[in-house]
Amino acid sequence: MFLIFIISLSIIFYFICMEFDTPVPPEPPLSGECPGCSEQVESGWLVCPQCQAVLREICPGCGKVHDRWVKYCPWCKHLNEAVSI
Ligand SMILES: [Zn+2]
Ligand SMILES: [Zn+2]
Repeated sequence: MFLIFIISLSIIFYFICMEFDTPVPPEPPLSGECPGCSEQVESGWLVCPQCQAVLREICPGCGKVHDRWVKYCPWCKHLNEAVSI
């Protein structure tokens, strides 16, 4: 009886280890187009490395800072008119 308990415990432990071993696919970095030079820029960048255009702006809807090239504010869904045109 005790042996069965040990075996089932080790099986559970094994599956827990497997769970941790499975590699989590890395999320692709959110990227967009620079409003200045249309180069690919990544989320979080402050300025474009190509033309040094400012890539961050304060949302008029909620006051939070987000990427300038996003169509909608990720926090309040405020439409970014500069991109939607
Ligand atoms: Zn640029
Ligand atoms: Zn907002």
